[in-house]
Amino acid sequence: MSEQTVFIGLGSNLDQPVSRVLQAIHTLESLPDCSLQARSSLYRSAPMGPQDQPDYVNAVVQLTTRLLPEDLLDRLQQVERAHGRRRERRWGPRTLDLDILLYGDRDIASERLQVPHPGLAQRSFVLYPLAEIAGDLRVPGLGRMQALLEQCPRDGLLRLPESALHAG
Ligand code: ATP
Ligand code: CA
Ligand code: CA
Repeated sequence: MSEQTVFIGLGSNLDQPVSRVLQAIHTLESLPDCSLQARSSLYRSAPMGPQDQPDYVNAVVQLTTRLLPEDLLDRLQQVERAHGRRRERRWGPRTLDLDILLYGDRDIASERLQVPHPGLAQRSFVLYPLAEIAGDLRVPGLGRMQALLEQCPRDGLLRLPESALHAG
C-alpha cells in the first residue's frame, strides 16, 4: 500500500473540548503507519442540528498514512471510543468525533465510508480549518478550495488564538 495524504476533521463539545482535541491530535500523530503533516488552529463553532448543546471545538489535521481507508476508520473509531464516545441522538453532543474528510484523491462510497466526507463543502467548521492547512487543494468531485470557501459563509466560526489553548 502506498502512502496517502489524508485529512481528518476533529470535533468535541463535551468534557474539556480544547484539551480533548489537542490530546486527540497527539494520539493521531502516534497511530501506526501514520505521520502528522500539519494541524489547523482550533476553532469554536455553533452546534449543527440540535441546538440544546454546547458549542463545538473543531480542527483539521493532515496525515500521511499507509492504512487502508477502512483500517484508518477502525483506528479513528477506537480513538473515539477511548474518549468515551457514545452514539445517541444524530448530531448530538459528543466527547470526540473523528471524520475522514479526504483520502488522497479517492472517491469512496461503501457502507461504512463516504469520502470526500459528504458534509465537507457545506460546513464552515470543516472547510475553514481545512483551507488553513491546504488552501491550494482541489477537492475530488468538488473543485478548488477557494471556490468552496466563497460558497460557504463562516457562520460565526471563531478561530481560537494559540494562547487560549492552555486555559482548558
Ligand atoms: P456526520 O457524518 O454527518 O458528520 P457524525 O459524525 O455525527 O455525522 P457518526 O455517528 O460519527 O456521524 O458516524 C456514523 C457513521 O458514519 C460511522 O459509523 C461511519 O461508518 C460513517 N462514515 C461514513 N463516512 C465517513 C467518513 N468519511 N468518516 C467517518 N465516518 C464515516
Ligand atoms: Ca461528523
Ligand atoms: Ca463521525
